Amino acid sequence: MSRTSVLDAPATTALRMDEVVLTYPDGDGRITAVDHVSCVIDRGRSLAVTGPSGSGKSSLLAVAATLTRPDSGHVWLSTRAGEVDLAEVGASRAAELRRAEIGIVFQQSNLVESLTAREQLEAMAWLGGRPSRARRTEVRERADELLERVGLGGMAGRSVGALSGGQRQRVAVARALVNRPSLLLADEPTSALDTESGATVIDLLLRTAREFDVALMLVTHDEAVARRCETRVRLVDGAVSAE
Ligand code: ADP
Ligand code: MG
Repeated sequence: MSRTSVLDAPATTALRMDEVVLTYPDGDGRITAVDHVSCVIDRGRSLAVTGPSGSGKSSLLAVAATLTRPDSGHVWLSTRAGEVDLAEVGASRAAELRRAEIGIVFQQSNLVESLTAREQLEAMAWLGGRPSRARRTEVRERADELLERVGLGGMAGRSVGALSGGQRQRVAVARALVNRPSLLLADEPTSALDTESGATVIDLLLRTAREFDVALMLVTHDEAVARRCETRVRLVDGAVSAE
């Protein structure tokens, strides 16, 4: 029996999208938003999705997020319980996967104004049932550790209303990581930020992918950001275009 050392082990694939097609109703017909797109993201690596406005970037991300079911194709996600085809799961399993395996960061941070930074993260871990006292302590420690990692250690107890746009987006990244996802999805996460805080959030996302061994799909229209990702797909009219 041959054994390979951990150091020789190939990167593990977290997400494999295979010939994904997504259409939307459009008058009497349908508009093809994602046109036979295939791509792979390994754990600890990042994939940039670029392309002009309306080219299908958000639609592709929504499919990977289980927020939209594709018309055809496969979306294999490696989970703790084995491979799952996200194109085939029902709504309740999809919600479970979004809670446990998939972290999502949108353009707007979508935080709950009345909660502190720490509570944003705790609320995420509480979805799906009130946890035991031991679990609550563990979640609180995890929340504080994550806030520390995104550079907001001193702000855990602050209401998010008091945070800047860049800080809020960093809370959103920390929140996306609370349940230890294997996949992190970010849809133009810096488009509402100034250049400097945007750069901080991008640095954070790329570092997060490596350090937390998460596969990152990053939708961006910034070519310089895209070049920092290990792999790239460019969409034009929903299809992968040769660069
Ligand atoms: P991008 O994120 O690259 O700007 P989108 O994925 O948002 O592109 O959109 C791709 C195409 O699908 C566009 O033509 C857009 O108008 C269309 N589209 C997106 N969402 C919907 C929807 N919910 N219903 C109908 N058409 C949509
Ligand atoms: Mg979009």
